[in-house]
Amino acid sequence: MNQSGAPRKAERLVAVKGMNDILPPESARWEALEACVRTLMRRYAYESIRTPIVEPTALFVRGLGEVTDIVEKEMYSFEDRLNGEHLTLRPENTAGLVRAVVEHNLLYNGGKRLFYIGPMFRHERPQRGRYRQFYQIGAEALGFAGPEIDAELILMAHSLWKILGIQGVQLQINNLGQPDERKLHRAALIDYFEKNADALDTDSLRRLHLNPLRLLDSKNPQMQALIEAAPRLMDFQGEKSRAHLDAVLAILGANGVDSVINPRLVRGMDYYNLTVFEFVTTDLGSQGTICGGGRYDYLVEEVGGKAAPAVGWAIGMERVLELLKAQPAFAPVQAPDVFAIVTDMAFLPRVCVVLEQLRSIGVAVQLHASGDGAMASMKSQFKKADASGARNALVFGADEMAHDSVTLKHLRDATVAQRTLPLAQWAQWAESLQSAA
Ligand code: ATP
Ligand code: MG
Repeated sequence: MNQSGAPRKAERLVAVKGMNDILPPESARWEALEACVRTLMRRYAYESIRTPIVEPTALFVRGLGEVTDIVEKEMYSFEDRLNGEHLTLRPENTAGLVRAVVEHNLLYNGGKRLFYIGPMFRHERPQRGRYRQFYQIGAEALGFAGPEIDAELILMAHSLWKILGIQGVQLQINNLGQPDERKLHRAALIDYFEKNADALDTDSLRRLHLNPLRLLDSKNPQMQALIEAAPRLMDFQGEKSRAHLDAVLAILGANGVDSVINPRLVRGMDYYNLTVFEFVTTDLGSQGTICGGGRYDYLVEEVGGKAAPAVGWAIGMERVLELLKAQPAFAPVQAPDVFAIVTDMAFLPRVCVVLEQLRSIGVAVQLHASGDGAMASMKSQFKKADASGARNALVFGADEMAHDSVTLKHLRDATVAQRTLPLAQWAQWAESLQSAA
């Protein structure tokens, strides 16, 4: 209360910048995408895993690399007020997944194929396709060294685009080779960028000796020409590394999956080796990467496990859903099958028993909600029924109740005559109310 005795209007609280509410009917599109993904994962024999959203900060610093954009600038890190632990909202889920795999010894009898769907957190400048809380779909195969698993993952992402009807996605691939090859390349890179030091921005100057590969990942447009002409990792690779990528490309080629080699593709985390790839579209403005991944054969060991090879990718859900907006077929219908119209509050106990029976066999039912102790007029209830998108209305009026029946009215086709149905025989007519879905 303020001084005049009137209730004070509470200050409106709003969501954190860059973090979105996903509201209906949009939320139904999210679930439809998730359902597609779960079906796809099953086809490729990937099992679901759910790891915590909060992890020890050290996991990301060690796993992703200290001199990376994510660790240097983008992590939501904090100290637990109660015990002083250093914690971080996961900026990605590969490190957490690997931690879980090691902690629970999931590789004890061979490899493991896993997937996850969930929110990630990065303190970036919010813009179209770039948020501070965003969702990733990720797939990771651990314990497998062969190129066929890199290819399997790429084929899986490719088939997701096909299932969703997303076209015009380009697959870019690079080969990061192995650590010893990287060392040679690193020396050449430092040499090259030192010679061009006056063209580097402050971030790049600082990183030059710490992590020169990161310079190749710079988004600074002024540096792109310089980056284009930088020494290429591929030129430092031995036969074995080359053979790995060639084998991946052969499988992709046999499956009609086109790719382009992008020698500048290095990705944002330090954990990658050999194959790295991104699926890129020009339909989303500057946030055009919808999937990124690669091999990370040294991360399991880095996180404290017994050395095991691994490969995976992550898809940005918001970006994929943005692409799907142009896709009328991908607008799932969430309307109930039936809207229940009730003319008197006194009928509600009986009506609700009937509605529960219908729901028990799978009919989607929306009950008209009363206001202030009374049901609204029939007219207004029919308006609501119409707006709900339901195909049918079930009318529970005084006549119907007196005869232990209900009136079924088709809401979308005026030529269908209304019918009176006996409540006692609900099992005989209820199924016909269910939509085909
Ligand atoms: P970008 O180059 O766009 O910053 P990234 O290389 O940092 O992407 P990854 O860490 O590889 O991204 O994550 C995989 C995918 O997750 C990206 O390809 C993108 O689709 C999505 N993604 C990454 N960061 C964001 C974000 N801040 N908001 C929305 N989606 C994101
Ligand atoms: Mg990024």
